[in-house]
Amino acid sequence: MTSVLEKPETHEILKPVEMDLLRQTSGAGIEWFGRAATALYYAYKIAQRLVLSGTRESEVILPSISCATPANAALLAGVSPRFADVDPATGMPTLQSIQQRWNPNTCAVVFIHLFGQTVDLRPLAEWCRDKKILLIEDIAQALGARLPDGAPVGSVGNLSVYSFNPTKIIECGGGALIIRSPELISVSKEVSGAAPLPQEISDAEARTLGLSYRNLHHSFVTLLRERAIGDVSSAFLKVQPAFRGLYLRPMTNPGALLNTWPLLRDILRHRYINAEKYDAAVSSGPWKRLNQWQESGVCWRYSLLFDFADKLVQFSEAVRQDGFHVSNLYWPINDFFRTSDKCPNADRFARRIVNLWVDKTVDQAWVRRCAESVLRNAERFAS
Ligand SMILES: *Cc1c(COP(=O)(O)O)cnc(C)c1O
Repeated sequence: MTSVLEKPETHEILKPVEMDLLRQTSGAGIEWFGRAATALYYAYKIAQRLVLSGTRESEVILPSISCATPANAALLAGVSPRFADVDPATGMPTLQSIQQRWNPNTCAVVFIHLFGQTVDLRPLAEWCRDKKILLIEDIAQALGARLPDGAPVGSVGNLSVYSFNPTKIIECGGGALIIRSPELISVSKEVSGAAPLPQEISDAEARTLGLSYRNLHHSFVTLLRERAIGDVSSAFLKVQPAFRGLYLRPMTNPGALLNTWPLLRDILRHRYINAEKYDAAVSSGPWKRLNQWQESGVCWRYSLLFDFADKLVQFSEAVRQDGFHVSNLYWPINDFFRTSDKCPNADRFARRIVNLWVDKTVDQAWVRRCAESVLRNAERFAS
């Protein structure tokens, strides 16, 4: 399948990767992009056209714990993001919390396999079928993971979104959209014909804008976490048009993905072994471990839910002072895009989660020292 969006040579070079992905997911077709954000943008456009004939206000249901990108791509596509609260144990939405956000304008649900975790998607897929809306799987953080029944992630959604950009499992650049059925392929062609990719911004401009966006997001998360202000969404939404150019980008380096693809198994193994090291070292303490990666086979970041929410910032800072990467930047995105979608579990989750690195920048010795720092500092702040 070739579309107006992709350069034919991209399509040819990536044939081996395409064949692997389509075989694993039983997909009917694939579109290559520069980002998962772009794949999401077209996924929303497809859902809007197929489900609502593009005639009505349309909404998509997203998890409240996520980076802001899936919601930003929805705004760009002219679809309103709605936010489902999460299971406090995993940070992922439940069928019930998703159902609560449904209304006749809903055209799709995005399920994000957060931190590499998977769930049985069959009940959600069945409900989406009944409602005649699309299920979009976002596997940016779960490339190569297995669902609880052993099937690969990306094999259930009507559309599945991949990211190969920095901080993800494979970091060589790019994104993809897997399209489940021939019917959806024809809608995809219509949509890409009607809304081709805009003129590309330069890499330098993308870097500058990206940095600005990150700083803005960090600042707002800090204000919310410290309860220094109740609402940031009006300010946040007002400046979003400045960042439009960041989201819609073509695949520019297919050769890099072709070369990196065969390394996926080794990359996942490195991450898994690091996660096992953490797991052995932090088996008890004032936290809960998110250990579904043991089932899915993929650990994006090793994640702990700490008991002491009010000291989390000081704790993270202390571990950073010891020289280790830790992040706790995922703030409920309903607070940025739609404050009326209350997500109390997501708020509690965001105040307690800490992510530790397992990627190629760290080895087992690093993990052991990082775990020691976590143990030492947790003891300090828990008391
Ligand atoms: C990073 C990420 C994206 C965006 O990926 P890009 O390729 O940078 O656009 C989308 N969804 C999730 C869950 C992500 O973690």
